[in-house]
Amino acid sequence: MEKEVLIFGHKNPDTDSITSSMVMENLERELGNKNAKAVRTGDVNKETQFVLNYLDMEAPELIGNINDNQEVILVDHNDAAQSADNIEHAKVLKVIDHHAVNFTISSPLYYRAEPVGCTATVLYELYNEKRIEITNKIATLMLSAIASDTLVLKSPTTTEVDKNAVRMLEKIAGLDLTKYGVDMLKAGTDISDFTPEQVINIDSKLFEQSNKKFRIAQVNTADLDSIFKNQSYFEQAINNDIQKENLDFYVFAATDIINSNSKIISLGNDAPVVEKAFGVSVDNHTAMLENVVSRKKQMLPPILDALNNNINL
Ligand code: MG
Ligand code: MG
Ligand code: MG
Repeated sequence: MEKEVLIFGHKNPDTDSITSSMVMENLERELGNKNAKAVRTGDVNKETQFVLNYLDMEAPELIGNINDNQEVILVDHNDAAQSADNIEHAKVLKVIDHHAVNFTISSPLYYRAEPVGCTATVLYELYNEKRIEITNKIATLMLSAIASDTLVLKSPTTTEVDKNAVRMLEKIAGLDLTKYGVDMLKAGTDISDFTPEQVINIDSKLFEQSNKKFRIAQVNTADLDSIFKNQSYFEQAINNDIQKENLDFYVFAATDIINSNSKIISLGNDAPVVEKAFGVSVDNHTAMLENVVSRKKQMLPPILDALNNNINL
């Protein structure tokens, strides 16, 4: 048997990480790479489960540590801190992504990144470039990822390229993105049976940049109060993570998908960096970030700027 090429997204996978792995597997197989296999690096969240249920599809297999020299394709991330364990010793063949490049694995590879709202949008272009048919199921997987990453085209990360892809994909899938996407996002906001630890880990990303180690976690909600009435429990869970992982600070953002704002809890020795980053004053470890919904475009860059300015002082 020839060896498998594993395709996966980031840890604490979101809808884009799961569905783009599946869409990339299909593309690779159509192009003759029959050993391509979508896998996942963490639990499927409720939003993604809504998509899989809708399509009557199974989630990709869960993997842990990857073996030395395992051939892999990364989607929806390029940062080793967010990738599968032992990624440093894997052979990365390709990266398909839409995040800032923080790639440290040095070997020749195919690298495709575009400043668009979603990995699925890049994959949509690749299907067209390679003239591979986009089936109804593939179109629905792509639309789901775009709806998730762009909050149904409302996030400032949304580009004309994403909107154009959505117009074409809606026709193939026979779906109205606005209705389907909002139902999907709402399914993801149900945290009623979750512990605070589980909630902060639904979509938590580790960053090791600017000589700091920190996490920015995000959870979508239609009701900020339902989260903040339990603030002290979330603070306990966050402080535990800070201790366990030796973090310099932790930002937990509850993003209001109806009003497009985020309310944050920020803890840890370097937590005051958020005041500088966002021009807000933190009160009781929390601050409201008006019109901020995107971690990658509106949270991480100002935090990195503030950290770099501190270093330069
Ligand atoms: Mg993602
Ligand atoms: Mg993405
Ligand atoms: Mg996301």
